[in-house]
Amino acid sequence: MTTTRRIARIVRGMAASDGAGVKLHRVIGTQDLPMLDPFLMLDEFRSDDPNDYIAGFPEHPHRGFETVTYMLAGHMQHGDHMGNKGDLGPGSVQWMTAGRGIVHSEMPQQENGLMWGFQLWVNLPAKDKMTAPRYQDYPAEAMPVVALDGGGSVKVIAGEFGGARGPIEGVATEPVYYDVALPQGAALTLPLPETHHAFVYVYQGKLEVADGPQERPLGTRELAALTAGGALSVSAGTDAARFIVVAGKPLKEPVARYGPFVMNTETEIRQAFADYQAGRF
Ligand code: MN
Repeated sequence: MTTTRRIARIVRGMAASDGAGVKLHRVIGTQDLPMLDPFLMLDEFRSDDPNDYIAGFPEHPHRGFETVTYMLAGHMQHGDHMGNKGDLGPGSVQWMTAGRGIVHSEMPQQENGLMWGFQLWVNLPAKDKMTAPRYQDYPAEAMPVVALDGGGSVKVIAGEFGGARGPIEGVATEPVYYDVALPQGAALTLPLPETHHAFVYVYQGKLEVADGPQERPLGTRELAALTAGGALSVSAGTDAARFIVVAGKPLKEPVARYGPFVMNTETEIRQAFADYQAGRF
């Protein structure tokens, strides 16, 4: 028998600024919720005011983990020190395994209009922290969208749902990443691996999650860290809901982090700085 997951904790996003002054909401990676192993950070950026995003994220390094950018609206251009370039359009995902080192920029390719999406940081196990960098870039049409009987849909970015498999492959933490839309009154049960930590983050409307210690609907910009278990049962009440459900296998390793570097020890962090400054990325 597997148990249904419940809400362990509700966390609200905090207004923050990153890059060259991009305004965003940080949900994981705050004092309130420093990490949710294997997830190190979750940001939602959403604005139709270019002043909030136009400065973008100019050149900066990463080592030791993965950055996952999922766009709902707008265009970002990605470029790195090895000459890789990518256009991130609406509905696309970029799963970047920084491994031993990437120096990249993430810049808006629009001067007005809505820019909306998420960046999730996923940790790498010690054995993969110095792996060669790798990209998995997919446009919206590469990801299956499963229509639900009661209305609504599940877009499968990573993992499997309803016989459809997301394109992201070969990631150490075996991630599940769904983008879900539920109309008013619709319910959904999502099977999730019992080995995984999981969370749900509501980015539009309100969502009811199977009873837990914090028994109330999740509002917009709220994240629920879920208890251990199997499936997640949710329903949209009087409002339609849009939300992401993300799960990954916890690494249970020591974490030493400083800005864009996430390693296991302080010595490895110092090495990352030295390597970056010496141009060894
Ligand atoms: Mn970055």
